[in-house]
Amino acid sequence: MHGATPEAANGHIEYARTLLARATREHAPVTLASSMSAEDMVLIDLVCRDKLAIEVFVLDTGRLHSETLDLIRQARAHHGIPIKVYEPDPDEVEEFLNHHALDAIFDSLDIRKSCCAIRKLGPLRRALKGKGAWITGLRQEQSVTRADLADAEWDAANGLYKFSPLAAWSRTQVWDYIKANGVPYNRLYDQGFASIGCAPCTRAIEPGAHERSGRWWWESPDDRECGLHEASGHQAPAAGQDDVTADRVPESQS
Ligand code: SF4
Repeated sequence: MHGATPEAANGHIEYARTLLARATREHAPVTLASSMSAEDMVLIDLVCRDKLAIEVFVLDTGRLHSETLDLIRQARAHHGIPIKVYEPDPDEVEEFLNHHALDAIFDSLDIRKSCCAIRKLGPLRRALKGKGAWITGLRQEQSVTRADLADAEWDAANGLYKFSPLAAWSRTQVWDYIKANGVPYNRLYDQGFASIGCAPCTRAIEPGAHERSGRWWWESPDDRECGLHEASGHQAPAAGQDDVTADRVPESQS
């Protein structure tokens, strides 16, 4: 019986490393958007392993689990890197709370999305300002909204390139990497969480349930995004073709 060679078995890792290096080489300055998910912890490890000039940031929405905040401290110590934190504009949070109860996010999709806009999208815009590319831990199999995810594309909404080096990775490959390399991870995964966001909008799931089913579970699967990755993207131009306009490259979905 023949098994996969080590090179073939690790092809997904090498491909991710190649993409990260390419992003750094062609689109500096580059930043990595981390929610401290298992996928993001893999990416942080790869960036540190290859000593890539990629800054890491977290959007601290003000509603994260204490376990997630603990992991930020742990990751800083484990990797010896700064992890930059962006918070929402306090005036916008105050304005929201003057019109809605804190947990009015359960009352309507519009209110939930306006909370995401204030607590996530505003800080994200600041984090991406002046950058040439951003890195995400999105994977195609995570949800119907991510099935067509490209691993490199022009992010027209934010005006920079977007790389998702784990786009084709399976959940098993993510966890195999974490275990094999002693990468720190969010302890909520040990309590039945399969995808982790803000505390009120995330819950543990039953074994075998879809991994994103614990996120915004009261909404239709088509709506279960926070807006960070909803913009339509375009296939990234090849090296040396950075002047190609969005209209001239094939469209793909973010
Ligand atoms: S995930 Fe929930 S708590 Fe977090 S910003 Fe969006 S609506 Fe608000």
